[in-house]
Amino acid sequence: MKKIVMLGGMSWESTATYYKLLNEEIKNRLGGLHSAKIILSSVDFEEIEKFQHSSLWDETADILSKEAKSIENADADFLIICTNTMHKVVPQIEENINIPILHIADATAKALVKDGISRVALLGTKFTMTEDFYKNRINEKFGIEVIVPNEHEQDIIHEVIYKELCLGKCNRNSRDEYIKIIKRLEEEENCEAVILGCTEISMLIKQGYVDIPLYDTTKLHAISAIDLALE
Ligand code: GLU
Repeated sequence: MKKIVMLGGMSWESTATYYKLLNEEIKNRLGGLHSAKIILSSVDFEEIEKFQHSSLWDETADILSKEAKSIENADADFLIICTNTMHKVVPQIEENINIPILHIADATAKALVKDGISRVALLGTKFTMTEDFYKNRINEKFGIEVIVPNEHEQDIIHEVIYKELCLGKCNRNSRDEYIKIIKRLEEEENCEAVILGCTEISMLIKQGYVDIPLYDTTKLHAISAIDLALE
């Protein structure tokens, strides 16, 4: 079994979910007392979040690169960054380390391709929804059309992520708002599926609340990591 480095803490709420999913997946596949080989590096999200909202992305890349570098020599085989947003700085981190990074958008897009989805809605932080690093990767590498919510909807989704979900709060009104947005994307934008492109959204929205298929990036990334760990 390969050893996985988890770069987490962004937020720790979803990192805890990742940790559980990775171990559950190993247990399902190998049985007995098997558990995942993991090195967890968890950063202080307050520092990262301040830099994100001040557009100081190089500073975030420095923190994550240093963190990744300090642990890659501990016999680690590959790295997962436990957040969609911070994949924005994957190129800078890759320059600083020698082990591969398993990209969350690739793990998600592979599942979409497998299910024959060609037009998908993307929910996530404003950075993930508006910038190119995520949408373009899915579109250019996998040929899937990515639709994002309108500006007003993006504001709601973003606020809920940082002010509630990353603090472990699941609010019923926020859930209703998300469901309303998802339904509009299905009905008016003809999306066939929705990417929960923020690792905390699955705390709030589950498949049972909507009919349209949901692609939970946290789960898909964890499963993909275990595929690679057992390869
Ligand atoms: N975990 C979230 C994501 O998947 C948001 C927190 C962050 O900005 O990293 O994008």
